[in-house]
Amino acid sequence: MPVHLILLGPPGVGKSTQASLLRQRYPIEPLATGALLRAEVKAGTPLGRQAQAIIERGQLVDDAIMIAMVRQRLAALPPEQGFLLDGFPRTIGQAVALDGLLHELGRPLTVVLQPLVEREDVVRRLAARRECRSCATPVQLQAQPTLPACPRCGGELVQRADDTPEVILQRIRVYEQQTAPLVEYYRGAGLLAPVDGRGTPQEVAERLCTVIEGRSRRAALPRAAEVSRALGA
Ligand code: ADP
Ligand code: ZN
Repeated sequence: MPVHLILLGPPGVGKSTQASLLRQRYPIEPLATGALLRAEVKAGTPLGRQAQAIIERGQLVDDAIMIAMVRQRLAALPPEQGFLLDGFPRTIGQAVALDGLLHELGRPLTVVLQPLVEREDVVRRLAARRECRSCATPVQLQAQPTLPACPRCGGELVQRADDTPEVILQRIRVYEQQTAPLVEYYRGAGLLAPVDGRGTPQEVAERLCTVIEGRSRRAALPRAAEVSRALGA
């Protein structure tokens, strides 16, 4: 059974780092809407031109655009491949639309992973974040202070236009107002799994994997009521 995951949390909590570790462990397609938008900006598409100013102000791109983007990619996945959503949903509207879409596709969510770190850590990580200009690999400068170039392709490391101190604060505000309500939404649906997000990326990934294993096993086993119905009891 493919796993269907959401990584939920504020900017800088380590979502993209965990996404790249988790994709080594599970047959999942990582879908990072921020990275998809940045690729549109780079390619100069009409959507990219429209999104650029919004991203650089730290605001959210329109729900309808984001939902269409995710719908198109999820619908194209082969049945045996799962997915990991990173940066989507970011509003209640997006979450409700996603529920409808996943129902249509017959792909129930396995779990919503919520890595937790302190606010100061989030700000520090974002300020120390650089990204490869050619392949978009994220790099933490505090871990590798003398790193001259992208560890993957040797490309130039640049700061994202929305990783300046003012825009970072604005993105955290937007998260708290528009995205944080999703925590209650998914808790209510019984899907939320808060996980300690401190420590090395590998330590966090281990904790996430433990949660995923537990949840996918539970989903694979029928509930008591289904068993008695099947047995005609
Ligand atoms: P972060 O490090 O803040 O998690 P992302 O790479 O996920 O950054 O997103 C960067 C920007 O792209 C966001 O600040 C927002 O402007 C836009 N964006 C990404 N995903 C969404 C979404 N689901 N809905 C609206 N805007 C989005
Ligand atoms: Zn690179």
